Amino acid sequence: MHFETLAIHDGQAPDPATGAVTVPVYQTSTFEREDLEHRREFFYSRIGNPTRSALESTLALLENGRHGIAFASGVAAITAALQVLKPGDHVVAGNDIYGGSYRIFEHLMRPWGVETTYAPSEAAESYVECIRPNTRMIWLETPSNPLMQLSDIRAISSVARERGIVTAVDNTFPSPYFQRPLELGADIVVHSTTKYLGGHSDVIGGAVVTSDDALHRAIRNYQGAAGAIPGPWDCWLVLRGLKTLKIRMKEHEATAMHLARALDAHPAVGRVFYPGLPDHPQHELAKSQMSGFGGMLTVSLKGGFPAAKKLIEGTKLFIIADSLGGVESLISSPAKMTLGALSPEERRRRHCTDDLVRMSIGLENAEDLEEDLMNALATI
Ligand SMILES: *Cc1c(COP(=O)(O)O)cnc(C)c1O
Repeated sequence: MHFETLAIHDGQAPDPATGAVTVPVYQTSTFEREDLEHRREFFYSRIGNPTRSALESTLALLENGRHGIAFASGVAAITAALQVLKPGDHVVAGNDIYGGSYRIFEHLMRPWGVETTYAPSEAAESYVECIRPNTRMIWLETPSNPLMQLSDIRAISSVARERGIVTAVDNTFPSPYFQRPLELGADIVVHSTTKYLGGHSDVIGGAVVTSDDALHRAIRNYQGAAGAIPGPWDCWLVLRGLKTLKIRMKEHEATAMHLARALDAHPAVGRVFYPGLPDHPQHELAKSQMSGFGGMLTVSLKGGFPAAKKLIEGTKLFIIADSLGGVESLISSPAKMTLGALSPEERRRRHCTDDLVRMSIGLENAEDLEEDLMNALATI
């Protein structure tokens, strides 16, 4: 079956008790046992809840994986995926990863005894060169944030597999509609469902998907033991978002492409970072591992931070805010906002300069958004 059919039907059959067409919000903490000896499938909502189960099944299907495990946030999902490691293990991660992931690697994992090396470039060889005898995981985020650099999931995961290393991919930016890392050889996919999967800027959530039974067991046990689970209502909101994921992603992408071209032609703009543009250095890789280029784009302004500030503050339709993937277009300064907590040296290492402006392209009319950006650029 095709993606959009799975998103609407699978894991979400009408409610057996009432015939309700949408999965009910099972807002209950506990479930009656059949008797003292026999419990039902669900018995306590930290361990399992029917609304959460429906979300977990649907997410697994959309990533073409066997097991979905939902969490209270994207960072809770990332933390859970990293619990398959133990002190003494080593991780190789992308250079340009989500700031919150970097914080987990440096502030939670390192003191606990898991060291992370950041590959100096996005090239597959660069990851391979960082591998040590105790490397147990490679952590990829592709396209990356905010520079939209791609990592070759097929090439990297095949080297990792030969050496018994787990490959995990944060697939938040492309969503499973445009990229399915498990099909490309990865072992674990993580998501912030807060972004495109929820899609309406109204919920915080996360998920892990894997087809590996042993990884699933470990992460599922961690979910129940550590307890960072999403509530039933939050699961329901993400389930509702998933039903329209295809049509939203197609529209986000078409508008992002339109705006990337328009911005590329503007004299105040230095570079446009969007994998859909033919001059993006990894455009061919994008075409081979993604089925579309997504709705996120970043630009650098020739006029540096003052120009970036004018663009960000000069738009009327774009909302100045963190996050991404909602119906409304958002605009941000990576250096001041999402990566603002990093040290200046760390930002430099990541080439996160303050002339950058990141945009999450929403579902407004493309020409209205273009006019808004052009009006703001005209003030620079
Ligand atoms: C937002 C985000 C996260 C973290 O998700 P939360 O839901 O905010 O915890 C992780 N990875 C990426 C790529 C993100 O954009």
